[in-house]
Amino acid sequence: VTVISVNERRRLKSIATRLEKWFYQNGRRFSWRDEKATHYEQICTEILLQQTRAETVENNFQRFFESYPDWTSLNKANEIDLRKSLKPFGIWRRRAKSFKGISNYAVKHNGNFPDDYKELLKITAVGPYVANSILLFQYNKSRPLLDMNMARVLERYFKPRKLADIRYDSWLNSAGQYLVRNGNARIINWAILDLGALVCTSRKALCNKCPLSRGCSKNIN
Ligand code: SF4
Repeated sequence: VTVISVNERRRLKSIATRLEKWFYQNGRRFSWRDEKATHYEQICTEILLQQTRAETVENNFQRFFESYPDWTSLNKANEIDLRKSLKPFGIWRRRAKSFKGISNYAVKHNGNFPDDYKELLKITAVGPYVANSILLFQYNKSRPLLDMNMARVLERYFKPRKLADIRYDSWLNSAGQYLVRNGNARIINWAILDLGALVCTSRKALCNKCPLSRGCSKNIN
């Protein structure tokens, strides 16, 4: 069910264009954004990025993926070794469990996940965020990587709202979904995540450096 208005759609289209343009000048470069990155690396990285800073993930990316270059090696990993390798990323016990769950599925299905959101949610360790990242990276579908950064920017731009659990907030999900349809979905996702990390940060909004300042509700008020 779409819960965004016609006017909101128009504004989302406008910010998508500005975000894409901004990204090419200001976006951050990370190993998982490189065109050489495999789907396996991209999907695992999205699990690592939840609740961990992108810079921390980047600093430990190479070592981790050299130890576990594919789903099979990850699946075969000894539990203690895997936890040790995940320690630098934080919440390693939970992540070791998630990696075991998702790699069990991947190994049984030759690394191919379903291209259907509801089917993806049935897989152990796959929640809304990871399901969307699989659809985005493996199937090139326009899906939003809705995290706190994206939520904060959309909230500030449109209207201050009381944040519910972002995974199940229907307005935010519809807004994110519509936003990334207006251009290159990967770039728009990365752009809004970077804008939330560099410009529209949780501590401070640097509105004078923001490509979205025109039309932003926080800036007008
Ligand atoms: S104008 Fe300010 S509040 Fe609005 S999105 Fe940009 S940085 Fe955030």
